[in-house]
Amino acid sequence: MTQESTHKETREFQAATKQLLDLMIHSIYTDRKIFLRELISNASDAIDKLRFASLTDQNLLEGQQADFEIFLVPDESTGTLTISDNGMGMTYDEVVENLGTIAKSGTKAFLEKMKESNAATDELIGQFGVGFYSAFMVAKKVTVITRAPGQTNGVRWESNGDGTYTIEECEKESRGTVIILTLHDEHCSAEHPDENFLNRYTLENLVKKYSDYIRYPIKMNITHEEQPRDDEGKIIADVPAIQTVELRTLNSMVSLWTRNKTDIKQEEYYEFYKNMFHDWEDPLEIIHTKVEGAVEYTTVLFIPAHAPFDFYQRESTSGIKLYSKNVFIMDNCKELLPEYLRFVRGLVDSADLSLNISRELLQQSAQLKKIGKNLEKSIIKTLDAMLAKDRPKYEKFWKEYGKAIKTGVYSDFQSREKLQDLLLFSSSRNADELCTLAEYVERMIDGQTVIYYATGKDHASVTRLPQMELLTEKGIEVLYLFDRVDEFAIDALREYKGKKLQSISRGDLKLDEIDPASKKEDEDTTKEHGSLLAAIKEQLAGKIAEVRISHRLKSSPVCLVSGDSGISLSMEQILAEMDQKMFKAQRILELNPSHEIFAAIKKLYEEDANSETFKDYCDLLYGQALLMEGLTPEDPVGFASKISSLMAGIRK
Ligand code: ADP
Ligand code: MG
Repeated sequence: MTQESTHKETREFQAATKQLLDLMIHSIYTDRKIFLRELISNASDAIDKLRFASLTDQNLLEGQQADFEIFLVPDESTGTLTISDNGMGMTYDEVVENLGTIAKSGTKAFLEKMKESNAATDELIGQFGVGFYSAFMVAKKVTVITRAPGQTNGVRWESNGDGTYTIEECEKESRGTVIILTLHDEHCSAEHPDENFLNRYTLENLVKKYSDYIRYPIKMNITHEEQPRDDEGKIIADVPAIQTVELRTLNSMVSLWTRNKTDIKQEEYYEFYKNMFHDWEDPLEIIHTKVEGAVEYTTVLFIPAHAPFDFYQRESTSGIKLYSKNVFIMDNCKELLPEYLRFVRGLVDSADLSLNISRELLQQSAQLKKIGKNLEKSIIKTLDAMLAKDRPKYEKFWKEYGKAIKTGVYSDFQSREKLQDLLLFSSSRNADELCTLAEYVERMIDGQTVIYYATGKDHASVTRLPQMELLTEKGIEVLYLFDRVDEFAIDALREYKGKKLQSISRGDLKLDEIDPASKKEDEDTTKEHGSLLAAIKEQLAGKIAEVRISHRLKSSPVCLVSGDSGISLSMEQILAEMDQKMFKAQRILELNPSHEIFAAIKKLYEEDANSETFKDYCDLLYGQALLMEGLTPEDPVGFASKISSLMAGIRK
């Protein structure tokens, strides 16, 4: 039958298809370039189909070699981009069914068939049903010429996307499908190379980005032009350039993650990671899992060796790419991982996800949530294992991402408990060692009921804090927090396995069981010096909430602590830096009754409670307590001049 003799029909699209086309043309997608991914994925589906079917029916290959391939032909003279494959092709009826309606996806029907015959179906791509129509986002006319194996004639389908299409029989020599897109002018214009789908580089990039892992070669002829040269190698002008054509395969075809874990060498993972995520260093950790069951997916995750230099400053981005059966859906899928794990790079490939899903819909996708939960779990599990089995590696991890984990503790209520065992702290025990909460608890001394922590700039300055004195003497270990997020995390945790986290600069140190006598002693001393304490408090009214006898001090005369409730002094500083100056810690001045300064101030008080000297001493005590906390006295000049007077012996 020749083309002239065939009967050409004009048909209406099914109502739903019309709507869909309308949406496509007036774009629910802002990202028009995905049409290429869709058409390539359809071509790949068609080849899959043929490959599977030919396993049981060799005749389908029509005696041809099974050199499956997908071809791209950009043609500037006609303004067309042609995508062809030598896959399954469609019969007349199939064309009507597949390209005229959306309710019945051809792939879906095929899957049903394969199921009946119990063949392997897992590699069949696509359940999605709208991909083909995305061609109308970039093309004013779409022509499909296709022939199914075993048919004598091909079928030609054509539409402007305006509600109708034409269909007729035609000649086609080889099986497979050719899709010719007559592009809108804006997509053939050299002015916008990114949107120009005839541009060689644009096509190469799109294939690399979206279809690199398609298992069949995606080929394109690339024409190189070169001016001829003379014997001396000089360019000869005024003669036509020599054209050479190179047939290039644009995709790499390997989808590492679908391969068997045991077959993949570490080097391969590394190369894959570096290529895919543009890193020059090998990753610290690889997590490759295949999950079967209610939701099925494969994931390869990487923890980069180093956090980006601006990791803690910038807005969060996620490094997870989403695929469905080897076909790229999107970058930076935020929905998959909690914010605190945003340093993890990798991909998730799930056949359950729709290719054509918008970001908005994706957020609501139950599958995605489920996958996300699993990813978080397996990352935490991997970190737990790393901590248990390879401490140096874990500490490397901690150095880079510890802050992120701590952020997770305070910002992610649901993950808090799972994360507490991943925390590492510096401690009073050793300046060069980090410890976990479990290790700390293990080392707690008899009678110790709480976990002590102290905040400060660095190991040396925390060790020198007056509040550390008694604890050090009693051999009680204290966790040191240097990072501003530390205290947020600790505040959020409150306790670890029933043990309260207790700041050494806050409220009661709860040493009763370790040192039962001391409490009684403190109470007695407080009674004894009651009126002095009241006088100091009065002198410092408005600055402090309370003055009391300290049970933490050994050699320092004074220290500042905060009350059991409300924020701490260090938190007040952090908040002030964040411009949240309205939050104030309750300040309590604690005095060491065995210090000679205490005796001196007591003497001044008894001599004349209203003397300037007594008042100055009160201010000086408070000033030095502030300084030891790293705070500036409220009146630095006044403070300095009082010290000068003392030094010069003006006041004794
Ligand atoms: P889906 O791929 O999710 O099924 P599409 O809208 O992308 O949905 O394609 C609709 C149907 O058209 C496909 O299921 C397939 O049957 C048919 N089809 C599209 N492109 C091709 C092709 N290159 N070769 C064979 N059939 C195709
Ligand atoms: Mg498709």
